[in-house]
This record gives sequence, structure tokens and C-alpha cells, in this order.
Amino acid sequence: MKVPFLDLSLQHKALREQALAALAATYDATRFCLGKDVEDFEKAFASTLGYSKALGVNSGTAPLHMACMIAGFGPGDEVIVPPFTFISSAWGISYVRATPKFVDIEEGTFNLDPAKVEAAITPRTKGIVVVHLFGQPARMDEIMAIARKHRLFVIEDCAQADCAQAVGARYKGTPVGIIGDVGTFSFYPTKNLGGCGEGGALVAKDDAVFTTARQLRVHGSDRRYYHDIVGGNFRMDGFQGALLNVKLPHLAGWNARRQEIAARYLRELKLADLQLPEQPAYGKSVVHQFTVRHPRRDALREHLQKQEVGTDLIYPVPLHLQKCYASLGYSSGSLPVAEKACATCVSLPIFPELTDAQVEHVIRSVNSF
Ligand SMILES: *Cc1c(COP(=O)(O)O)cnc(C)c1O
Repeated sequence: MKVPFLDLSLQHKALREQALAALAATYDATRFCLGKDVEDFEKAFASTLGYSKALGVNSGTAPLHMACMIAGFGPGDEVIVPPFTFISSAWGISYVRATPKFVDIEEGTFNLDPAKVEAAITPRTKGIVVVHLFGQPARMDEIMAIARKHRLFVIEDCAQADCAQAVGARYKGTPVGIIGDVGTFSFYPTKNLGGCGEGGALVAKDDAVFTTARQLRVHGSDRRYYHDIVGGNFRMDGFQGALLNVKLPHLAGWNARRQEIAARYLRELKLADLQLPEQPAYGKSVVHQFTVRHPRRDALREHLQKQEVGTDLIYPVPLHLQKCYASLGYSSGSLPVAEKACATCVSLPIFPELTDAQVEHVIRSVNSF
């Protein structure tokens, strides 16, 4: 039985008629940049996830950049960020010419280790980019206590943690993204809520921050041709808003199915030396990825490939050892927990359209290694 690591075609086949009708309406109305589709999506996204409002933008990297502009990070400032994440988590820091300060993760959840965050603070530390990796909320109480003590601006990278009311990713009942100062989302096609192209969103706890973000999105302007601050073009396009409006009502069901598959993996994967992701009591994951560790990871992957089970390495190289950050002076051994994760992790298929038979096949294949 074939089990692809991810198959986006199933979801898009099911929604084809509705999606194309929505696109046609947007096309006919020439609502190409922002406009009603995007406004409708912003309202629906905010109410579905539990925010007062949300801003639609043109990628998941854009709001990270915008957040670093709003925070006022600049040359000489250090901003803490985990090394075990997608590179975008650090891009915003680099775009404003501040310095990413990579701080190691904890073993169980793959997220920032609060004790190491505290130890990494210097007089130059200005902020933290917290990532809720694989859909699992990070330890926000501890991180926010450190942030308050040192007056740090906190950005939550929620690109992998689109929740939907009761269906996580909530931290002690609060949706991630508004615990810190700014929350950022990505609608890249492979995310839990994926668009058909590029897209993202920004949420903020504070109204003034949100208003600045809205200005930044459209060239630093509230009024056409009047530019109050240096902004950019971070607008979501109308087609993306229209498509996301079709998809959003399915997010809760999709996340519930991911959690159902994860629950089976957690119960039924029984391989010796296989390390399963920790399930902390403070907040449930929306299981963007189901990532396990094994000391003989490469051999396990080969075995799974022979059973026609697709896997992926997310992530093979930690950010502090990427070529683009060589000048920061980290070396192999600098951040051992993240490096070990990169060396021993393998992600299993977890998308909502997997059948029970496919899930069973994954479990049997892992257990027979
Ligand atoms: C996908 C992702 C992003 C960026 O998203 P894009 O939409 O591709 O720009 C940022 N952070 C994390 C953790 C991601 O997984």
C-alpha cells in the first residue's frame, strides 16, 4: 500500500467546484489586491481562531518581517530565536539588520527551552521570536515571564499552528499568537490551512500595534499617496482571500483528523528506541507534523521507503549551521539538542485525507523495523 508523505491533490479535488466558482467571482469583480474577499477572510479567520481581528498578508515570511519593523529592532540588537525551525523564523530579524541569537530547544516538544532563553539574555537583547513548531505551543508562561522581566518584544511564529477554536493550538485555553505582541501565520499550500499560492496573516494583542501593521502593509499609508511611515507591499491578493474563504470552514475538521491520526500513532507505535513527541498538558498540538526520533533514523527511513511509506526530514540542518549565518560564529556542538534533533528526526505522513488503512500501514511498517 502506498502512503505518500503528503498529497495535496485530494483536498483540492474535493473543493474544486467551489474554489473555481469563488475565483471566477473575484475575477469578474476585478478584486485583485485586498478587497472584499480578503476582508471577509480576515473576519472569518479572526472569529474562527479566536482573535478580535486579523490582517491578511502575502506570505508567512511577510508578517515576521513586519513584526520586526514594528518592534523597532535594528543594528546591534539581539533577538532570540530557536535554531530548529524553518529559516523564515529568523529572516525578519536579519531583514532589519538585527542579529539572530540562536537559543537551543528542549528535547520533548522541539520548542525553545525557557531556561536557556533566560541564560542567553544580554543588555543587547530586544526580543524573542517564539515558534510553535509542528503545531505544538511553546512554554509561553515561562517565556513571557522572562520577556516582561527584561522588557522584550515577543513575536509568535504560528505558521504551523493554525488553530480553530476547540481544536488547538491553544496555550491553556488562549489561542497562540496573542500571548506575545504579534502573531504570524502562513498559508503556504502545505500548512494546516493552505492557500493556492502564497499567503499569511498577522494578529496583535495591542490595537496600536495592529494599526501600525495595517499601515506597513500598504506602503506605510492610510490614505492613498500619503506615506506616514516607511512601509512595504505586504498585501494579500484577492484570489487568495477568495480561496481561503472556501477552505477555512474545513480547518477544524482537518485539524481534528490530524489529531485523531496522531492519537493512533502515539498509542500504537511500539518500536524500541523510537522517541515520540511529548504531549504537554498545557496545550494541545494541531499536529502540523508528526515527528519521531530514532538513533538509526536513516535506516528506518530506508525501511519505510521499501514499505512505500513516504517520510521527510524536517529539518535536516539547524539555522545556526546554515551557510547564510556562518558569520555569526556558531559551530557544530554549539546547540546540541537542536543538532541531535536534526540528526535523528523523521516526520511521518499526517495529512487529514489519509485513510485508516493507510495509517495502519504506517504503524505496521514502523513497528516492523
Ligand atoms: C512556512 C513557515 C514560515 C513562512 O511561511 P511562507 O509563507 O513560506 O513565507 C515561517 N515560519 C515557519 C515555522 C514556517 O513553517
